[in-house]
Amino acid sequence: MSGAKYSGLIDRYWERLPVKNRKHIVTLHEGNTPLILAKNLVKEIFGTKKQSSEDSDNNIRLYLKYDGLNPTCSFKDRGMTMAVTKAVEEGSKAVICASTGNTSASAAAYAAKAGLSAYVIIPEGKIAMGKLSQAVMHGAKVIEIKGNFDEALALVRDISENYPITMVNSLNEHRIVGQKTAAFEVVDVLGDAPDYHALPVGNAGNITSYWMGYTEYHAEGVFEKLPKMLGFQAEGAAPIVKGEIVKNPETIATAIRIGNPASWKRAELARDESGGLIDTVTDDEILEAYRMIALKEGIFCEPASAASVAGVIKKKEIFKPGDTIVCTLTGHGLKDPDTAIGVAPETHSVSPDIEQVLEAMGL
Ligand SMILES: *Cc1c(COP(=O)(O)O)cnc(C)c1O
Repeated sequence: MSGAKYSGLIDRYWERLPVKNRKHIVTLHEGNTPLILAKNLVKEIFGTKKQSSEDSDNNIRLYLKYDGLNPTCSFKDRGMTMAVTKAVEEGSKAVICASTGNTSASAAAYAAKAGLSAYVIIPEGKIAMGKLSQAVMHGAKVIEIKGNFDEALALVRDISENYPITMVNSLNEHRIVGQKTAAFEVVDVLGDAPDYHALPVGNAGNITSYWMGYTEYHAEGVFEKLPKMLGFQAEGAAPIVKGEIVKNPETIATAIRIGNPASWKRAELARDESGGLIDTVTDDEILEAYRMIALKEGIFCEPASAASVAGVIKKKEIFKPGDTIVCTLTGHGLKDPDTAIGVAPETHSVSPDIEQVLEAMGL
């Protein structure tokens, strides 16, 4: 089903989202992101042993839901179109969020479109450059704190309770509700749910949203079998896996550098109801998957996004021939060019001389 004739996901899934009047919709034409069959990754991860022939039903099918192709280049736009639309509907004049980066970029853009003020509280020095540049370009008031995301969020909760400013973190239920549309899109494209859905887990809003989307569609009889949800936290920021708050979360994947997830309980519910799992991946595993996705599929995602594929690699024994796996790539690689340059081979500069250039080319 093509979404081309729709302007954004509230329009597309109008009857499933609690907006009162189409006139209130604040959209940047988010959603309808591609679901890309990743055959090269399948070969790389599973080899060819289990595959009887190229396109047989026995092959494992791995799809990448590339949500880095949303308007501000992360899945956060799905929730933000809803949160800002509802803020407008409720007469709010300002929004506020704590952010590891992408929420602030998205909040700033949607607030700009709606003519609202945006306040952003971020952990100092831990935001990828691309994300910070978006927030400032869209006119958000950015406040850096000498603390981590969890402390930023506590401040935001306090402020939004005491001032007429709408909090647009994923504690705002409209965010969760908007993000569930990604599950609808997957099913609308595949004509069915996948067997497994893998994604990175930070505040755990997205895994909560996908599960909400899948179970809603399932209850309507759109497809038969629900997917197993596979969530992956970075090893240095894995409170759900460890079963306790992580005071000083650390990982190269800054978007999931969260020690006390807002949707902790609901993520566990998604895991348990679906018969899935939440596990850790190391920074090295994340970076390896990050490079593999770029090298083998031509898709550039940010490090946190690659946790989904890193998790599938780690857990590859659980998949059987014929299984369909969807990995969400939550954000675009250009958000965080520093990490990319850091893992790439060094470039050398030579004179503008044919011999030297050919030598550098290895010819
Ligand atoms: C926000 C974010 C996540 C984590 O999503 P949660 O809903 O917080 O679990 C993962 N990847 C990227 C790129 C993000 O921006």
